Amino acid sequence: MTVRVVLLGPPGVGKGTQGRRLASEHGWGLISTGEVLREAVARRTPLGIEAQRLMDAGQLVGDDVMIGLVRERSSQSEAAAGFVLDGFPRTVPQADALDVMLGERGQTLDAAVSLAAPKDELVRRMSARRECPVCKRAYNLFSAAPRDGRHCDDHPAAELCQRADDVPETVMRRLEIYERQTAPLLEYYRSRGRLHEVAGLGTMDAVYGALIRALGV
Ligand code: AMP
Repeated sequence: MTVRVVLLGPPGVGKGTQGRRLASEHGWGLISTGEVLREAVARRTPLGIEAQRLMDAGQLVGDDVMIGLVRERSSQSEAAAGFVLDGFPRTVPQADALDVMLGERGQTLDAAVSLAAPKDELVRRMSARRECPVCKRAYNLFSAAPRDGRHCDDHPAAELCQRADDVPETVMRRLEIYERQTAPLLEYYRSRGRLHEVAGLGTMDAVYGALIRALGV
């Protein structure tokens, strides 16, 4: 089944973790725009150099840049059997551009799934979030710690890292920007009959179960 889905929700709600599993279990491409940008920052590409200042400040990268990036990734062969978009769209112009881009290819967006959790839980999760620099597997120092507390279970030489934008001040800024610029997308997709709302609280497995039931996959 070819399914194209967007994951919506505030930073820290679990879009990355759930999106990764959803894509890998169904053979769909995963397009995580934050991940693509972080790789570009690490490699010091022109995109990375341009994006880093905004990301470190918790602000959004420009719509044109992001739309171009998703246009390219979503047309690659990995996305042919379907895709999960994690972190895009984040603004109404991005959502409009996604519709146009899919329409031009004779494709449609099947669903927008929103994950939700209370703000204090999001702040707590982001402060404890760590990732493997090699495989990008996500950990949480409280709820999903690595076996030895410091290194990736699958890459024992790799010490887990904290994202530069997961520091407290930037976390608050990102939550504000989410409310202002991205939360209106819930109504955008609701009014088009494409929104599925899923609680982002509970174990990772419980959230995943609710997600696949909502999608009917
Ligand atoms: P994320 O990993 O989704 O939390 O994204 C990390 C950061 O990358 C965000 O705070 C933004 O600075 C930037 N970013 C990711 N996706 C987008 C997008 N669709 N539009 C604008 N900026 C984005």
